[in-house]
Amino acid sequence: MSVDTILLKGKPVAEAAYERLKPRIAALRGRNVIPGLAVVLVGDDPASAVYVRSKTRAFQNMELVSETYNLPATTTEKELLQLIDRLNDDEHFHGILVQLPLPSQINSQTVLERVLPLKDVDGFHPDSLGRLLAGEPRYIPCTPQGILEILNHYEIPTARRHAVVVGRSTIVGKPMMALLANKWGRGNATVTVCHTSTPDIAAHTRQADLLIIASGQPHLVTREMVSEGVDIVDVGVNRVPDDSPKGYHLEGDVATDDMLGLAHAITPVPGGVGPMTVAMLVSNTVLAAEISSGAAS
Ligand code: NAP
Repeated sequence: MSVDTILLKGKPVAEAAYERLKPRIAALRGRNVIPGLAVVLVGDDPASAVYVRSKTRAFQNMELVSETYNLPATTTEKELLQLIDRLNDDEHFHGILVQLPLPSQINSQTVLERVLPLKDVDGFHPDSLGRLLAGEPRYIPCTPQGILEILNHYEIPTARRHAVVVGRSTIVGKPMMALLANKWGRGNATVTVCHTSTPDIAAHTRQADLLIIASGQPHLVTREMVSEGVDIVDVGVNRVPDDSPKGYHLEGDVATDDMLGLAHAITPVPGGVGPMTVAMLVSNTVLAAEISSGAAS
């Protein structure tokens, strides 16, 4: 039997999120507070530069403050930590984002932990992750938070379902599994997590009612690996070289077309999760401004 697969596009969900933020931003303006984000970009990784530009554009569209600090690839850890200290003390910036990956001479964890927890709008600081696990989240990492918004918007249930998460990074997989397994919010799923030491991921993905894939492996999950009616969130953004003028195209961790007629719903790549990650960064920065101005706790 063939089903009409629903495309879970991120743009309308992101637009709805921006609309909900507008009155909160207006209220902050009324108190002379304009939410501000400092973005730190080290080196010249082209994909990172694209991500930073799209984040900056979102802040400009909402007439918020966003300043990017471009540092050379040779920057030392000490120099980067000194900049983070300055940004921690700068009250114009309610949030600080350190674009990953960082060059190999810099310990990413040391840098992420130097950001003040109150300015950790990416949600990668142990304080933010610990709060999430304790059921008292402050800043939820942007991509998993955005995925929950997509599920909410398209009324894809999580409770009483089997969710399979492929990937266990701190950025996507781990916070995603915590959110889905939570007793509060959009959780109450039974969660299985797969990674490179899972002997047969297809044995798990076939059991999924809801499949979240964040492996960074183009087209890792194929039609034969899922069951009819599954809801799929494809987080992967992979640059695959080709003969086009750009020299590459983007592919997800799933071939979207492969799943049409089989899955109940799927996020496209590009245009699915990506817009939500940016919208949730704006949302977390607005929350940070509210906290620092006493309008939220
Ligand atoms: P990551 O840190 O590289 O983690 C990848 C995870 O997938 C790891 O846990 C790894 O397992 C697992 N994995 C890799 N190959 C696998 C395989 N063959 N079978 C099973 N598990 C496998 O990546 P990430 O930061 O989580 O990002 C994942 C993808 O999402 C990337 O394509 C990234 O570009 C994309 N992404 C998109 C957005 C967005 O806004 N759309 C945001 C963030 C990330 P091990 O732990 O065992 O190594």
